[in-house]
Amino acid sequence: MAKQTSPRRFSRRKFIGSSSALAAAGLGLPTQSALAAAEPAPLSSAAPDYVILNARVLTVDSNQPSAEAFAVKGDRFVAVGSSADIRSLAGASTEIVDAEGMTVTPGFIDAHSHASSAGVNELVQVNVDLRSIAEIQEALRQRASITPAGQWIRGFKYDDTKLAEGRPINRFDIDEVVPDHPVVVGHRGGHTGVYNSLALALAGVTSETPDPDDGRFYRDSNGVLTGLIAEQARNVFRGMIPSGSTREQRRDGVTLISELMTKAGLTSVHQTGGGRNDMIAFQDARAEGGMRFRMYLFPSGQSSLFDDLVNAGVRTGFGDEVFRIGAVKFSADGSASERTMRMSTPYVGRPEDYGILTMSQQEIHEAVENAHRNDFQIGIHANGDVTIDMVLNAYERVQSLWPRADARHRIEHCSLVNPSILARIKAAGVIPAPFYTYVHYHGNKWVDYGQEKMAWMFAHKSFLDYDIPVAPASDYTPGPYEPLMALQSMVTRKDFDGRVWGPNQRITLEQALKICTMNGAYASFEENIKGSITVGKLADFVILADSPSDVDPDSIKNIEIVRTVVGGRTMYGA
Ligand SMILES: [Zn+2]
Repeated sequence: MAKQTSPRRFSRRKFIGSSSALAAAGLGLPTQSALAAAEPAPLSSAAPDYVILNARVLTVDSNQPSAEAFAVKGDRFVAVGSSADIRSLAGASTEIVDAEGMTVTPGFIDAHSHASSAGVNELVQVNVDLRSIAEIQEALRQRASITPAGQWIRGFKYDDTKLAEGRPINRFDIDEVVPDHPVVVGHRGGHTGVYNSLALALAGVTSETPDPDDGRFYRDSNGVLTGLIAEQARNVFRGMIPSGSTREQRRDGVTLISELMTKAGLTSVHQTGGGRNDMIAFQDARAEGGMRFRMYLFPSGQSSLFDDLVNAGVRTGFGDEVFRIGAVKFSADGSASERTMRMSTPYVGRPEDYGILTMSQQEIHEAVENAHRNDFQIGIHANGDVTIDMVLNAYERVQSLWPRADARHRIEHCSLVNPSILARIKAAGVIPAPFYTYVHYHGNKWVDYGQEKMAWMFAHKSFLDYDIPVAPASDYTPGPYEPLMALQSMVTRKDFDGRVWGPNQRITLEQALKICTMNGAYASFEENIKGSITVGKLADFVILADSPSDVDPDSIKNIEIVRTVVGGRTMYGA
């Protein structure tokens, strides 16, 4: 092994600084080849490209749970061990980085998000993630002042429970400031929107319009439409609202969201739902060097993209380590955060309201049979216990008729469970992907469920008790994607205001870290190439200023992300 000759050393301050060690080592922002496969190393140089010493490495590898140091060559980890051992591997060209006691974890994985639409929405819609109706009105008024009358104005990331006025926005609030443009204020959960009166008039919706089975036009106690519309009732606007983005904007949206997500420590993201435009946007962004994370893209089951892939003979896993075809995505019920998911018991204070199904059992059977027989992994959105039961019926049926080893079909969200559901999930080898930041971020919504249900919701502890490889999921935009907030939320079960929801579902930091890394890799069949700091795996890792095990659990989300590295290259550096 080559002896270290003239190592360049870096102090902690320099290391944290922007012109720091990894950048100096030629590991700066991505270029067109940044997230391509590693080039074969020239025979003359066996030494690592760089080594990181004196770190607290939480490897998430049970064979070697902690280490002080590791070495990277190309896009892989080539050694993990003590600082002395790893230092001895360094050659003349090897950069030596002293982490001075900072913590290193594997790159975080978000196994359920809507990344590309979130990115493009930041560019073309109005961000109404604001804390009062007055502020939302002002944001809509400003957009209307630069938008020709008659054109749609779309708001996104609305949250009905965080407003200073203590009530949700309604159509009259919007009419007051924007009467001459049709407006939708979309909830961040993605299942409801508040429309103004002009929008309702254009769609011909009146107080006489009946609710469809799979949706709702909300009315006040006098029967007057509030403007809030849920689920498939929104189909009355189909074809009326332009997609509102260009190919360039969609590419820039991917670039923006991958920048934001790697800044939070994410190195791999599953996008649960997408069509042809998303395929193009990810490839465009990658070609221009704007794609910083690895993407596992779920074609939407309702899109022509899925049929096209099947016809072309493509199946789950097609692609490379940067961009791969994931499971096919369907959606069978309402939303947890918008309180429309379908349950066997009603919402608190609404004895008639059990939530909304968006697929029938027969439709689920047909979708699952087609996807399973075409060798796709399947991910079905099912929040409530009723819906989860229906999805399990379909998974059990296809596996008994057409058995497939290691299919890893998934239940997206899988929010409300019980012992029977847990046993069936374990027996069928199904992967649940419950929300990982919801308990903390959306606390004020859990009042509508109550503590009794919350003891069985986002049930990370129960899944682990049944030895189920539960996946990490933000569902961004509905939930924040920050993995450190996820660790805090799963460990404390405490919301923004300090209330604890379902304390029986608390897990340890070590368990939460494994969910956010290894279990994320398992959910995309990639546990052999990522998810832990292990020799031979992709060098995806995050450097944290402090260890999550050292700080107060209530402040894990505030730990500084110092650097995010994907395939050996720095994609974010503070
Ligand atoms: Zn989703």
